[in-house]
Amino acid sequence: MGDPRIVTVGRPILPDLDLMKDLMAEAVAANWLSNFGSLHNRLERQLAPMVGTGSTQLVSSGTMALMVALKLGNLTDGAEVITSPLSFAATVQAITWCGYKPVFADVDPVTLTLCPDAVRAAITPRTAAILPVHFVGVPCDVDALSQIAKDHGLWLAFDAAHAFMLELKGRPISSWGDVSAFSLHATKLMHTGEGGAVVFPGTHDPQSARMRNFGMQDGRMTGPGTNAKLSEAQAAVGLAVLPKLDVEIEQRQKLRRLYDDALQGIAGIRRHDSRPQASDSLLYYPLRMPPAVQQRVFMALAQERIFARDHFALLCGQGTYLPDAQIVTTKNTAQAPIAGPELLCLPFHGGVTAEDVARIADIIGKNSI
Ligand SMILES: *Cc1c(COP(=O)(O)O)cnc(C)c1O
Repeated sequence: MGDPRIVTVGRPILPDLDLMKDLMAEAVAANWLSNFGSLHNRLERQLAPMVGTGSTQLVSSGTMALMVALKLGNLTDGAEVITSPLSFAATVQAITWCGYKPVFADVDPVTLTLCPDAVRAAITPRTAAILPVHFVGVPCDVDALSQIAKDHGLWLAFDAAHAFMLELKGRPISSWGDVSAFSLHATKLMHTGEGGAVVFPGTHDPQSARMRNFGMQDGRMTGPGTNAKLSEAQAAVGLAVLPKLDVEIEQRQKLRRLYDDALQGIAGIRRHDSRPQASDSLLYYPLRMPPAVQQRVFMALAQERIFARDHFALLCGQGTYLPDAQIVTTKNTAQAPIAGPELLCLPFHGGVTAEDVARIADIIGKNSI
């Protein structure tokens, strides 16, 4: 008997290589490798209706999308941006790289997204923006956060890196806030290898189109900007991934049902469900369990060469880049450090088989109590 097969937590949709070669040949024949070439524009047109109903601008990464989304708020240097301690590092790095100060508000222990009461409590005279995260594909309390932003005149940018094609109340998730930042990294669902998108609920401010291109207009530097352009090679990856997206989504929806059935009745674990009226995440299959069980299950799976996504480590506090940052909470004690370590995301992609699911459920069952 050989070793058990390796099951990775994710697997990128691989581009159709023939199509990608044709597309690259097109770019080479046109002598056009970046700066809004025809592949870039084609991908932007095709992706726009998938991420929103407003306008969409492709950029070179999800982190760049976050930075452009923040800079569009015209915040003053050193302004405070309220965000979640439960996210990927990029959320906080984007804030600090822009010269703003991250302020951490607590999460709701059920949804693990920013708690509106904690956000209100975190507001100071220096607060200029809120950067909530649709964490592991669960939408934030978008209505409450929109109200807070309105009441206090704050810029509201959503980190939608986990939220490609996520819908709430039948509307694309980018319908809320001033702007949303998506990631098109290979570890996400739809991707361009590296890439991202800035999405507006309505028509965009022309300044934002220029911001990704050095703040230039007609050859003149007219405003703040950087180089956040998505190249033709990145666009070729995206256009050659797109035809395979529907099949991958179908496989993930089927996998979700397989997991739901196989894990039913296992004591000590539960699904980390989305909100009512929200679509299921197409990126993660998250479970909740006591932290000690989480660690045991994670290790037991790894021993069988099955790699789950361990909980997202807190982005502030001891041992981090921001050791002194506190989590503002309205509860007796902050919920993020307690609820965060309960999370475990199972392998979730089209390559996970029914046999894998049976093995995973078996290992979880043996380690969950
Ligand atoms: C992946 C991710 C990003 C950053 O995206 P990149 O495309 O890798 O720069 C930002 N926020 C969250 C929550 C992410 O998971």
